[in-house]
Amino acid sequence: MIPTFRSQLFIDGEYVPAASGHTFPVFNPANNEVLAEVARAGSEEVERAVAAARRAFDEGPWPKMKTAERAKRLRRLAELLLEHAAELERIESLDVGKPLKESGGHDIPRAANNFAFFADALSQWTQDAHWGEGNWLGQEVNLLSVTLRQPLGVAAIIVPWNSPMMLGTWKLAPCLAVGCTAVLKPSELAPLSLLKLGEIAQKAELPPGVLNVLTGFGEVGAALVAHPRVDAVSFTGGVATGKQVMRAAADTLKRISLELGGKSPNIVFADADLESAVNGAVRAIFRSQGQSCVAGSRLLLQESVYDRFLERLLAAVAQLKVGDPLDPTTDFGPLISPQHRQRVEGFIQSGLDEGARLLVGGTRPRDPALQRGNYLLPTVFAGVTGTMRICREEIFGPVLTVQRFRDEEEAIRLANDTTYGLAGFIWTRDVNRALRVASAVKTGMVWVNSFFLRDLRTPFGGARESGIGREGGRYSLEFYTEPKFVCVPYTAL
Ligand code: NAD
Repeated sequence: MIPTFRSQLFIDGEYVPAASGHTFPVFNPANNEVLAEVARAGSEEVERAVAAARRAFDEGPWPKMKTAERAKRLRRLAELLLEHAAELERIESLDVGKPLKESGGHDIPRAANNFAFFADALSQWTQDAHWGEGNWLGQEVNLLSVTLRQPLGVAAIIVPWNSPMMLGTWKLAPCLAVGCTAVLKPSELAPLSLLKLGEIAQKAELPPGVLNVLTGFGEVGAALVAHPRVDAVSFTGGVATGKQVMRAAADTLKRISLELGGKSPNIVFADADLESAVNGAVRAIFRSQGQSCVAGSRLLLQESVYDRFLERLLAAVAQLKVGDPLDPTTDFGPLISPQHRQRVEGFIQSGLDEGARLLVGGTRPRDPALQRGNYLLPTVFAGVTGTMRICREEIFGPVLTVQRFRDEEEAIRLANDTTYGLAGFIWTRDVNRALRVASAVKTGMVWVNSFFLRDLRTPFGGARESGIGREGGRYSLEFYTEPKFVCVPYTAL
């Protein structure tokens, strides 16, 4: 299957070029060849896309449509994504460098499920009613207050490059489900799968303007955040950009949701099922080459299993097959860009300079077949202390730091010694300890004896500098709606 790329902007139900005629190249991280020249949106296209989304919301059928009818369209989107899965997973692997095992085995099915899930969620969503008492003009009355949740309007959805389809649809599905309309801004580094979504929206007969996709650079995201006719911004990306988004959104007091970076601790206690914990630790850091917000990038090992665990971990790392993302047996592909690889190599150098002990990796692979791609071997550092840059900053690459701890108290202290608070992982057979540590770790999410198992009803997101707000189930539906109570007094008996 040779995929075809879409390279124009999707505005008001149609693919159109940028008025300026400007384009930018999108590269294949496995060989740095140009995959496509994609239209580069500018301020004119931001205006057109926002106007289209505004019209579709203010005048179009979408927000007024019966819930069951909107849900039907979302289910159709889900079906279409699955029908196009073979093409979409290849596009994602070519564009992001994600092994097919992940794009085909996880991301594209999950993207379809995002739509199916929120189509179903609509029928399960309940709203509040409050009964009370009051006094109106000297007369005792009963009060019925009903909370309506009305669609908020036009949402800007801004996503990063690491899992475009999974993350983009995670935001888009609840947005569309409640009747909002969207301007979606994929990352300039990997926009191809989300651009294809326009084609799928046409097939699913989404009314024009309900979904708009603008490819371009950060300036497009910034213009959407500042735009007075955009009502909400759902952003996933880096902490520094998230802070800019929050500042810029203040001028128009927009509702924002920020899903940002992490430096998540992976805590292994001596009583854990070590085999399972080793598998979990390897997946947690090396899945997507470490380019995952929930990466378990700080491994904390209890003293008594430290040596045994590391030995097994290194054996498991040696088993990872580094190679072409399109090879179905590949476990580990290239990094997104030469610049990003250089940035990660800078961290590796800083680890060496600061005295950490390199156990494996740290270099590019020697395999001649991989020389043109942005490959960097899975890397593990021991002898790491909490002051080192590799332990403090989000690397967003395949670098695992290992620290040892004596007891639960020290594990919790090390786990919380960060400004981030996205995820935490705990490996133990003791359910009491699991729950104690889970409640003491300052993160938005904790996985016990597992990694990234998802129930889409749960609140996904981070504490501290990992973000603001939660997404998933009713949390997402609430984000895209305005609560309004309507008070109806009625005569008391
Ligand atoms: P980034 O912040 O550089 O870019 C994210 C998106 O924002 C891109 O589409 C970019 O074009 C746009 N953008 C850039 N400047 C902007 C501005 N001033 N205003 C509005 N939009 C702007 O992030 P990235 O490098 O693409 O992605 C990596 C980061 O994303 C990592 O920090 C990672 O942890 C984070 N991430 C978080 C989650 C989560 O759910 N918490 C998931 C995936 C990735």
